Amino acid sequence: MLKAAFPGSFDPPTLGHIDIIQRAAGIFDELLVVVAENHQKKYLFSAEERAEMIRRLTVDYRTVSVVICDTLIVDFLQKQGIKLLIRGVRGLEDFSYEFELSMMNKALNPGIETLFMTTDPEYFVLRSSSIKELASFQGNTSGMVPPLVVDALKEKYRTGKN
Ligand code: ADP
Repeated sequence: MLKAAFPGSFDPPTLGHIDIIQRAAGIFDELLVVVAENHQKKYLFSAEERAEMIRRLTVDYRTVSVVICDTLIVDFLQKQGIKLLIRGVRGLEDFSYEFELSMMNKALNPGIETLFMTTDPEYFVLRSSSIKELASFQGNTSGMVPPLVVDALKEKYRTGKN
């Protein structure tokens, strides 16, 4: 059984994230999407909202499950018995950040390997932070995030919950 985890903020999940999830689900026997809850960070969507969106978006993938994690990811994976951590990379800028992060995780737990998956060219400009900014100005986010996320963003910015 080859199990992998894909951790991230997913605030909100984009088509780029979903593409990585779909492709990883096609490679590994089980994929755990880990929604990070870092109490130092300010999120637009709560961890439960982010996890629920991903659950709904991956409902057709039997081997994908979604959990929330508010501890160190390597400690969490150790407890789950998962040795592979997937991260997506859009370009060089992502890579240098992701590389440093993977070095830190390796120092914390050398038994966990980080695997990088490159973005699909169709999604390489998609970034949750810019999508939120666009949505805050009532810009059109369809084509960047799945329809249910388009609606969730509209709802957040309409009700001023951000
Ligand atoms: P984090 O705060 O952990 O970086 P993100 O939700 O921003 O969380 O990203 C989670 C993972 O998904 C990261 O590895 C990031 O590089 C990757 N990612 C984000 N957007 C894309 C995209 N458009 N294509 C491929 N990978 C992506």
